[in-house]
Amino acid sequence: NGFTRRESCVLAVDVGTTSVRCHVYDQRANIRGSCTKKVSLLYPEPGRVEMDPEELWQGFVTVVKGAVQDSGLQMCQMTALGISTQRATFTTWDRQTGKTFHNFISWQDLRAAEMVRSWNSSCTMKAVHGVMKVLHVLTRQKRFLAASLVVFTPQHVSLRLAWALRNLKQAVDEGTCLFGTIDTWLLYKLTKGKLASLLSVRTRTDHYTVQNFINPFFLSFSHNFGSSDPSIFGVPIPITSLMADQQAAMFGECCFDTGDVKITMGTGTFMDINTGNKPHTSVAGLYPLVGWKIGSEVVYLAEGNAAGTGTAIKWAQEIELFSDVKETDSMANSVKDSDGVCFVPSFSGLQAPLNDPKACAAFMGLKPSTTKSHLVRAILESIAFRNKQLFDVMLRETRIPIMKIRADGGVCTNDFIMQLTTDLLGRKISRPAHFDMSCLGAAFVAGLAVGYWKSKEELKKLQMSDRLFVPQSGKGGGCKDGVYKPVLQSWEEALQRSMHWYS
Ligand code: ADP
Repeated sequence: NGFTRRESCVLAVDVGTTSVRCHVYDQRANIRGSCTKKVSLLYPEPGRVEMDPEELWQGFVTVVKGAVQDSGLQMCQMTALGISTQRATFTTWDRQTGKTFHNFISWQDLRAAEMVRSWNSSCTMKAVHGVMKVLHVLTRQKRFLAASLVVFTPQHVSLRLAWALRNLKQAVDEGTCLFGTIDTWLLYKLTKGKLASLLSVRTRTDHYTVQNFINPFFLSFSHNFGSSDPSIFGVPIPITSLMADQQAAMFGECCFDTGDVKITMGTGTFMDINTGNKPHTSVAGLYPLVGWKIGSEVVYLAEGNAAGTGTAIKWAQEIELFSDVKETDSMANSVKDSDGVCFVPSFSGLQAPLNDPKACAAFMGLKPSTTKSHLVRAILESIAFRNKQLFDVMLRETRIPIMKIRADGGVCTNDFIMQLTTDLLGRKISRPAHFDMSCLGAAFVAGLAVGYWKSKEELKKLQMSDRLFVPQSGKGGGCKDGVYKPVLQSWEEALQRSMHWYS
C-alpha cells in the first residue's frame, strides 16, 4: 500500500458507549486502518447500566491488533498510542490479583439518583449555593470547585462510588482496593499494574461521603504515561495521551480558541464551549471541565449534556419505527410537521437546564392520524430542540462571543437534525468528513507528545470539512420566520409535564 518500512503512524482508540474503535492515523491524519467492536451494555435491574471489564479489555486489544492488521503495517511502526474514553464510568479492583470487584458502573446508571436528590437538598449544598453568591471574591480554583458542585447528577462518579464502596470496606481498609475510570484501568492493564500506586483508594466512607478516596493528580494530557507491556502487542508502544471523550473530540475538532463550540451527538449530546483560561461557573447545570493541559497551557470548557440522543434513535429502531437509521432523514422530510406530536428524550432524565433525573421519556399529542413518520420526525426534532436549549443557556450564561460551531458523532450524519439545529441556532455549523472526533483528538494529542505533529497550527491545516450547514429561512425549518416557535413552545410544555414522573 505504498508504505516504506520507516513510515510511522499513530494509533488511537476511543472507548464509546456503543463501541470500541481503533484507527491508525498517518501524518496527514488520514485513516490507514480501522477496527471496531460493539460494546455490550448490561441492564441487571431497571436504572442500572453496567459493562463487563474483561470483555472491554479483550475488545480493546482486539481492535488495536485489528486496526494495525487492516493498515497493512507492522505494530513496530506505531509511534504512539492515544486513548479516549467515555467519562464517569468506573470500576474498582484488587491491587494484587487485578480482579475487578464489580462490573463497570456506567455513566448512564441511575442507582445513585436517590443519594443525589438527598445530597442536593442537604445543608452542605445550601452552603455551596451561599458561596456561589460571593463567587467574584473567590480564586479560580475555588470557583472551579464551587461550580463543579452546584448541581449533582447521577452521572457524577462520587455518589455512585460511595454506593460501590459500601460493600468494599475491608479491601479499602487494607489498602488493596484500586479505583479507576476506563482510561486508568486500561493503563493499569496495558502496563501490567506498573501505575497501581496512583490509583489506590484510601478512604473513610460514611453514609454519603467518600473522603480522600484517591489523591487526584493532574498530569499533562500529552505525556508519556508508560509503554504497553511487550507481551500484549509484541512490541512496547508508548501511551502518550489519555483523554476523556468530549475533551478529545473538542481537540479533534481543533476548537482551540475561546468561543469555539462543538456539538457531539452520539448516544448522548455533549455541547462544549471553549471558555479559555477561565472555568465557567454555571447555575443552570453547565459543567466546567478542564479541556486539556498541554505544557503550561490549561484550557477550560463548559459543557451541556442531553443524555437521550442516540438512545432515542436506537429505541425507535428497536420498536421498528424504521429498519435502518439512514431512513429517518427521508421519513422526517416526508411529512410537513410532526402532526402536533412532541417527544421528550428523557430515557435517563433531563439534564441542563431542567436537571431532573426523574423526568420520563414520552410521546405527547398522539392522534389517530399520527404515522410512524410523524413519530420519527418528533424524535429528530427533539434532538435539535435540546441542542437549541443547551446553546441558549450557553450564550446566556457565558456571554462569550461564538467563534465557530462544529458537529460530530454518529447522529450528526442525519441531515434533518443538522439543518434544523442550524436553523434554530441561526448559526453556521460545519460537519467534518471524519466523525470519530474523540479518536482523532486522542491521536492528535498523542502525536504532539512524541513530535509526530509539531503544533496546533499544523493540526488545523489537516481538518477536512464534509459540509457547511447554513441557516435557512422559510424552507423546511423556517426558523427565522418563527414557524418553529409554537412547536418549540408545545415541546417545552411537554418537557414540563414529563418532569418528576418517577418518585
Ligand atoms: P457513541 O460514540 O456514543 O457510542 P456514536 O457517535 O457512534 O455513539 O453514535 C451512535 C448513534 O448514532 C447510534 O445511536 C445510531 O443509531 C446513531 N446514528 C447513526 N447514524 C444515524 C443517522 N443517519 N441518523 C440518526 N442517527 C444515527
